[in-house]
Amino acid sequence: MMNKEKKRLCPECKGLIKPGRTEMVFEVKDLKVTVKNVTANICSKCGQSFISGRVAEEVNRLVNRVSEDVNSFIKTQPKVRKGHKEIAIAV
Ligand SMILES: [Zn+2]
Repeated sequence: MMNKEKKRLCPECKGLIKPGRTEMVFEVKDLKVTVKNVTANICSKCGQSFISGRVAEEVNRLVNRVSEDVNSFIKTQPKVRKGHKEIAIAV
């Protein structure tokens, strides 16, 4: 069966946009927070990523939660070492 998703073209280069994953980097206080595995549409030509409003909202909420209480967040992330200035979150 054909899927109903219509082809979308990149507004920058008119390349074909395909569903994929990207990562977003935020600065939280003096911490670098990388959110990995973010659902996005990626231009197959120039690599520009397009994130839907719903996904962006979700990521923002996640990053806000981290920035509210960095220390207790780190406790929930066993892979993050204390004093490490980088957190990677997969969504
Ligand atoms: Zn493009």
